[in-house]
Amino acid sequence: MRLMSYQVLARKWRPRRFSELVGQEHVVRALSHALASGRMHHAYLFTGTRGVGKTTIARILAKSLNCERGTSAEPCGECAVCLAVDAGRFVDLLEIDAASNTGVDDVREVIENAQYAPTRGRYKVYLIDEVHMLSKNAFNALLKTLEEPPPHAMFLLATTDPQKLPMTVLSRCLKFNLKRLLPEQIQGQMQHILDAEGIACEADALAVLARAADGSLRDGLSLLDQAIAYGGGAVRAADVRAMLGSLDSAEVLGLARALAAGDGAALLAEAQRIVAFAPDFGKVLDDLAALWHRVQLRQLVPGYAAVDEADGVALDALAARLSAEEVQLDYQLALSGRRDLPLAPDEAMGFEMALLRMLAFRPQREDDSARAAL
Ligand SMILES: [Zn+2]
Repeated sequence: MRLMSYQVLARKWRPRRFSELVGQEHVVRALSHALASGRMHHAYLFTGTRGVGKTTIARILAKSLNCERGTSAEPCGECAVCLAVDAGRFVDLLEIDAASNTGVDDVREVIENAQYAPTRGRYKVYLIDEVHMLSKNAFNALLKTLEEPPPHAMFLLATTDPQKLPMTVLSRCLKFNLKRLLPEQIQGQMQHILDAEGIACEADALAVLARAADGSLRDGLSLLDQAIAYGGGAVRAADVRAMLGSLDSAEVLGLARALAAGDGAALLAEAQRIVAFAPDFGKVLDDLAALWHRVQLRQLVPGYAAVDEADGVALDALAARLSAEEVQLDYQLALSGRRDLPLAPDEAMGFEMALLRMLAFRPQREDDSARAAL
């Protein structure tokens, strides 16, 4: 039996020093040089998808700047400051998630307080995640502070969507684009963790999980948590395929098959089976769009076939059945259906209508027995 206090892998294995970080070497090198030479910028912008190390880098940087044994790229990890940062309770590291505003009562006021000296450290470090979603008030306070930054303040801004930031902010930040991690990098870290944890695994299983992580180490480790639980403490390839399949691809594939067959009754049955789970409908439409993308690749790129796809045969069948234009249209309809979900009378209805729209715009075929009978 696992202990009740099982700690998720992404948190337990969050890197505490730059040398433990997976990938992002270009960022680490630049920050290390800046720390060593004492030429730190007062505002950094980290762009990149979720789970690639933005928060982790910011926390290590907070230690580097404030470690009691001096500023360096290799904080000691043992002093009161380093321990407090690692525990997520360092008073001069202010973490703001602009997407949710959790944990901070008044973001504008917190940002304006940057002018006051730090309480314990040498630097007051602000980590503002999804900075493009700050409220207007908070944003103005940030702009004003960045125009005349106090010498003891350091702003680490992170966003998945830098296009939404005004030039006034972009021009005042040093920008780093964090890269999506390669499947091999994610798999390597998974192997490293499982070895250290003494958990048995099959290399095949990790390869499948690493690909499903889609560039995000955090998502990958979360899948690994699920796989360990699913496999009762071991990670086997057959289990992982079953687990991932049961999460999304089987249901979404059912929808695509019904659409390709022009079978309205089957489509509604599949849709209602999904609705019964009360899922995140936007995510289901996302998965459907991603499926059309893979079908289209098979249609238009000769010899294309991603390695080790459990559903490869089913996708080949869809690619043969539908025209390239239909797949384009269905992809667009999945996106627009997702966009319009909040406008629908309720989300389940919006989801069903998006699917029915794909059916409605499907060209009539001679072999559509199900519809010809109508
Ligand atoms: Zn320290």
